[in-house]
Amino acid sequence: MDIKPANNFLQTLIADDLAAGRVQEVVTRFPPEPNGYLHVGHAKSICLNFGLAERFGGRCNLRFDDTNPEKESQEFIESIQADVRWLGYEWAGEVRYASSYFQQFYDWAQHLVRNGCAYVCDLTAEQAREHRGTLTEPGRNSPFRARSVEENLDLLARMKAGEFAEGSKVLRAKIDMAAPNMNLRDPILYRIRKAAHHQTGSDWVIYPTYDFAHGQEDAIEGVTHSICTLEFEDHRPLYDWFIEHLPVPSRPRQYEFGRLNLNYTVTSKRKLKQLVDEGVVDGWDDPRMPTIAGMRRRGFTPAAIRTFCDMIGVTRSDGVVDVAMLEHAIRDERNENAPRALCVLNPLKLVLTDLAADHRQLLSAPAHPGREDLGSRELPFTRELYIDADDFREEANKKYKRLVLGKRVRLRNACVVEATDVVKDAAGNITEVHAVTIADTFGEDPADGIKPKGVIQWVSARAGRRATVRLYDRLFTHEAPDRGDNAFMDFLNPDSLRVVENAWIEPSLADAAPEQGFQFEREGYFVADRYQHTPEQPVFNRTIGLRDTWNAGGGDQA
Ligand code: ATP
Ligand code: MG
Repeated sequence: MDIKPANNFLQTLIADDLAAGRVQEVVTRFPPEPNGYLHVGHAKSICLNFGLAERFGGRCNLRFDDTNPEKESQEFIESIQADVRWLGYEWAGEVRYASSYFQQFYDWAQHLVRNGCAYVCDLTAEQAREHRGTLTEPGRNSPFRARSVEENLDLLARMKAGEFAEGSKVLRAKIDMAAPNMNLRDPILYRIRKAAHHQTGSDWVIYPTYDFAHGQEDAIEGVTHSICTLEFEDHRPLYDWFIEHLPVPSRPRQYEFGRLNLNYTVTSKRKLKQLVDEGVVDGWDDPRMPTIAGMRRRGFTPAAIRTFCDMIGVTRSDGVVDVAMLEHAIRDERNENAPRALCVLNPLKLVLTDLAADHRQLLSAPAHPGREDLGSRELPFTRELYIDADDFREEANKKYKRLVLGKRVRLRNACVVEATDVVKDAAGNITEVHAVTIADTFGEDPADGIKPKGVIQWVSARAGRRATVRLYDRLFTHEAPDRGDNAFMDFLNPDSLRVVENAWIEPSLADAAPEQGFQFEREGYFVADRYQHTPEQPVFNRTIGLRDTWNAGGGDQA
């Protein structure tokens, strides 16, 4: 196998396991709970799990950890699969569901009961809390801990049969109520929940806890390296306890890594759901959301997201990553690959008075300055054009390098023009600028030596197309909207979306395929909306502006 040098501790650890013969084949899994759309943090976990399997020639399963029926749904199951595939990964075999192992989990629960390792407990939630003790004080045994095996088997069967009310009984492991690790103080294995399940319908009224399910799911699937985030570190002894006490078909091991947190956003499904439910955003895939579907609709690309996940690395500590680093990765990739195009966001008419009314010239412009392979496109050049209102002033000082009355500017991919006149409405607003073309300046400097200082974008008023352009910005104004006691809803950016209804785009853009991305010169990177863009009604979303604000190690990236 041709393997690049290890760049994270898990790669090193797995290489050692293979070398020492502790594992024959690397099997990982990505185990989302289908209770929301995946976010950028999940992208890190996906890249890690699928990436490790790829690197070592192993396999990675996609497994829905669907043990909480009330919050889960088919919509989430489908979106998660689409997101993983969009990122460029394919899971081994069929999609797996924890719920398809429910009977096996139940059999193993009975096994623990028979071996005196589990019991049915009738304490209320409140009483159980009192018995649990604290970090500094041991817990107390439940009065139900001494139930006989026969009684426990009978009660467990009757829990399963639906004889008892929710909350009235649980099945607990019998481990140690004085264990310093609170997770070992007789943790709950099963709860009664009379809820229909999206996969198993009404078959079950008891559901296993994460702790009782997860390691056993791994063991059933032959997972060798079960990788999760650091908050599960204290659960590892319990993970191992189940594996030791059950006749499982394989012995998976759990490893933890630091979760990804990004500034200026939230990465918790619960909070993202709140943004959706309260209508702050337009669904889980709103381009302002840090969800994979949102980033996709925003015009972020799988390659750029994977590069970002590589850049942030994998460590054993939690940290906050600057969102500017993600933006940098996107910009870098787009700069390399996005075809260039012309778009005017704030149109002002420019009339070239020396041209005939029906003047129409087809110019050819390269799609990308450094990528001949991307070909070229046709730009119709006519007597009436639109330029951006910000690119014209009646008077300006030398720092202003755009069009000024009596002065010259170059029209991108076309010729040099000189402004001669302005037309104003009754209120004194400029409604048109008149100009003349300077002879022989297509691709050439003016013969009289008076070179324009700036270049501006333009679109033919006759051949160009009107478009809706959505300008997205960060969703939160605060760097850490949900840190500590911060109520993240208080820090919503009121300008996170500005819709421009009458932008003008060069005609070739109307034929863009949904999800095709471009650099609109001097404006930023944009993408044809995945759902709403049509040739008749073009709709583009701003992916990211041109200016890079990421400061890598103090260097100026701009
Ligand atoms: P949330 O806290 O947003 O609900 P979760 O951890 O409950 O996320 P799961 O569906 O259980 O979401 O996560 C699936 C996998 O993704 C888990 O292995 C989890 O460790 C990983 N994961 C979730 N959030 C992050 C993150 N921010 N960074 C890295 N990995 C993450
Ligand atoms: Mg979870």
